[in-house]
Amino acid sequence: MMQLTNRSMQVAKKELTFMERLYFPAIIKGMIITLSHLFKRKATIKYPDQVRELSAVYRGQHVLKRDEAGAERCTACGLCAVACPAEAITMESAERQKGEESLYREEKYAKIYEINMLRCIFCGLCEEACPKEAIFLTDRIVPSSFTRGEEVFGKDKLVEGIDLRVDVTKRQTEEVLSFKTDKKHYHNQTFLDKKK
Ligand code: SF4
Ligand code: SF4
Repeated sequence: MMQLTNRSMQVAKKELTFMERLYFPAIIKGMIITLSHLFKRKATIKYPDQVRELSAVYRGQHVLKRDEAGAERCTACGLCAVACPAEAITMESAERQKGEESLYREEKYAKIYEINMLRCIFCGLCEEACPKEAIFLTDRIVPSSFTRGEEVFGKDKLVEGIDLRVDVTKRQTEEVLSFKTDKKHYHNQTFLDKKK
């Protein structure tokens, strides 16, 4: 018979030895492995009595930020949605009307902004893509729910409260801020840059 490789080997059904037929050595070996795990560090914790410490770079529930005066920073440019590998972000834009300057910072704003938390893989690319410092991931854990619909978070859950600001200074490191101003990266270019 033609052989494609020389790795094939003949296998034969071996007769069990006397010790193997007793089964005891195998049972004892198994018990030793089980008992050794009693003295190892446990991988689980007693949640919710005990809460696991989150990493400094933990990426949890998103926040849509307001500026210092309380206006929504998002201008519905869609860059976060384009950057999102999970296609979890959808939005609908609207023109800011006269008198709405205190509500929306830019002339265009997100009338609807939704993130499907079941699709999101918390990669943080939306945060990196945003030229307006409008979206950030935070250390908040996304709450669980009983229906899929509840996991589509709209502006009611994403925009920070005027009196309930979410601190994102940990994520605005010097390196991140300088990266965002680097014009080499396409998403950091403004409309005027592109016209040059
Ligand atoms: S964290 Fe990643 S997957 Fe989640 S919405 Fe942002 S870009 Fe999409
Ligand atoms: S990239 Fe920023 S400004 Fe643009 S739509 Fe997303 S959150 Fe809004």
